[in-house]
Amino acid sequence: MVMGKNDELESLRHQVSDITAQIIRNVHRRMELAKQIGEIKSSLGIDVKDEKVEQEIRLRVLSLADEIGMGRDFALQLLNVLLEESEQAQVQKRLQKGQRQTHLGIFMKAKQLEASGKRIIHMEIGEPDYPPPARVGESLADSFRLRQYHYTDTRGIPKLRDAIAEKEGVSEDEVVVTPGGRFAVFSAITSLLKAGQELIVIEPAWPAYKQCADFIGARTKVLRTTFANKWTPDLQQLEEMMNPSTKMIVLNYPNNPTGKILDGKRLERIVSVAKDNGLYLLSDEVYADYTLKKFASIHEYGYDKSILVSSFSKRYAMTGFRVGYAVANNDIIAKIASVQAIGITSVAEPMQRAALAAMSEYPSENVRMMKKRLDFVCGKLKEMSLRFVEPEGAMYVYPELPRGEDIELVEKLLEKGVAIAPGSGFGDYYRQFVRISACQPEKILEKGLTIMASVMKEQA
Ligand code: PMP
Repeated sequence: MVMGKNDELESLRHQVSDITAQIIRNVHRRMELAKQIGEIKSSLGIDVKDEKVEQEIRLRVLSLADEIGMGRDFALQLLNVLLEESEQAQVQKRLQKGQRQTHLGIFMKAKQLEASGKRIIHMEIGEPDYPPPARVGESLADSFRLRQYHYTDTRGIPKLRDAIAEKEGVSEDEVVVTPGGRFAVFSAITSLLKAGQELIVIEPAWPAYKQCADFIGARTKVLRTTFANKWTPDLQQLEEMMNPSTKMIVLNYPNNPTGKILDGKRLERIVSVAKDNGLYLLSDEVYADYTLKKFASIHEYGYDKSILVSSFSKRYAMTGFRVGYAVANNDIIAKIASVQAIGITSVAEPMQRAALAAMSEYPSENVRMMKKRLDFVCGKLKEMSLRFVEPEGAMYVYPELPRGEDIELVEKLLEKGVAIAPGSGFGDYYRQFVRISACQPEKILEKGLTIMASVMKEQA
């Protein structure tokens, strides 16, 4: 009898092992087919992503799961892993032709050139040149004198959390202080999504959202906007993108790189799409102070699953202090804080105190200066006969190139000592664009743009 059970166990184990081997073989075969499809798509110049085909497979898998009594969530999770792998296999083929360069990559190259003695005009990075408020410096000295340089609560020191809560009109348990807005984005995406689930990003977009999703094996669905439509997202298209794996929409207004601000009506509709589908709504508002028209924060819509991300980097020119924050309901904050507890313990105490000191001032001079610089850059680009949508906020202008591709121009300019960001760093379909950052004094911007004009003339 005991032998019989042992034999049965052995036989079942063999079957499991055989089926696993078959699954691996079939997955491999599936990937080979995906590569072939990728090659054909590439030769026909069609997109790697095909939502319609994907939706057909998804519906087939869901009905099969129901038929055989398999959990829908698990079936979808498996399917998403397969879809992601095939997409990567197809994308890799294209990437071999030309690696995607981001503004950060150009910044690193520019820094290397500077280290070797070359002078560079920085119009590639969103780092204001003006200093933080004077009391920030005093606070740093005080922190040392008063020995305020210890581990703090993972969510941040109570005084800073209270001040942020008051500014944002929430309670302090709805706030977590993070090392920059970037880490708030990272910990929100990585703690709220699982591998295989999807988030929607409106492109052109700051590349970090997709990078965070990639980091945990979540999938990024892109809602593409165009210059012709003034970078306005098509909300009908957004609604059509919903599927059972969709878990989050990411918004970034005022937008990096286009400077767009979404109007209240559209934002309201996005909130209702999120509500109807139970999605998280991550609103990256690090440029909220730099607005040239009315801007409504996600808070004004009272949606329980929204997460606001903000930062001291742009508002107070405190990029290197690495202080930002997230505001959301207590459950979400607890999840975000758990990533912080694992990764960093807390933001450095002197930096939190410096941020608190900064908050007693409103940076009106920074805002005024940025507006003036944006006007200046826009004027110069018009003189160069470049087309662009006038920025409504943020710190950038995103002009279209009349000829050639972004990387070509970016590299030529770097040789001449001017760094700008390639448009394709914000999405694969924007090779005709470059991003100019207005974070330098007008004299320097003028110098950089004059060099850009002469390089573009040579290209003509
Ligand atoms: N979001 C956007 C859209 C950004 O452009 C940046 C910085 N370039 C950040 C977040 C993060 O900034 P920080 O981490 O310095 O707060």
